[in-house]
Amino acid sequence: MPTPLSRTATGGRPQIGMPAQATPRVLVVEDEPGIAGFVRRGLIFEGFAVEVTTNGGDALASIAADPPDMVVLDIMLPGVDGLEVLRRVRAADAAEGRPPLPVLLLTARDAVPDGVLGLGAGADDYLVKPFAFEELVARIRAVLRRARTGGEPTTEVRRFADLALDVGARTVQRGDRPVELTTREFDLLALLVRHPNQVLTRATIMDRVWGPDFYGDSNVLEVFVANLRRALEAGGEPRLIQTVRGVGYVLRAAT
Ligand code: CA
Repeated sequence: MPTPLSRTATGGRPQIGMPAQATPRVLVVEDEPGIAGFVRRGLIFEGFAVEVTTNGGDALASIAADPPDMVVLDIMLPGVDGLEVLRRVRAADAAEGRPPLPVLLLTARDAVPDGVLGLGAGADDYLVKPFAFEELVARIRAVLRRARTGGEPTTEVRRFADLALDVGARTVQRGDRPVELTTREFDLLALLVRHPNQVLTRATIMDRVWGPDFYGDSNVLEVFVANLRRALEAGGEPRLIQTVRGVGYVLRAAT
């Protein structure tokens, strides 16, 4: 079955072996520059191609001209608001007989519409601001996986050395040993596993896992890394999360 991903532009780069999953294109519709920039930077860092529009009219024009693989859509927009954009997108899906374009809504904490997913508005998921980037990227990947498989439940397991992360079930194993982690510890580990052998700065990790508005104790990252190491090494396994002094951390097998 052809998927929306098959028409993804790849910038001319050969995508040997995985054409259907290369460079998903995400349209971000958000009028607040801080949030739009935060989401755009993060998604590019995670390997997505990103377009940003700041109002509903531009979003509809962009979708009509060249539908992306997914839309991240703020509800509160000047002019045509996000729910109206969503209604028009669903009408166009039906009119053109295409599979529903995956849409994730962003909403303010006090403005979650009643039953936003059940009103027939037809969003695939929604996220309440403020959110950590890790939460957003996990939701986006889940929505894209469901779209790709026509709604079939899927599992995505990421591995590094003897470590296995089940992204959907949010479970972790080290060899045969299950590792219990908190939500935040899992998000931190998931970020590191997505970027193995790549040094991630403290600022990048804080931005991705805690969000851009975190102004708490700057030792929080050290505390979480220490806890994560304790959990991952409880069976006497070798250290995988290495400190890069003065910079950040890297997931790397000990040498
Ligand atoms: Ca807004």
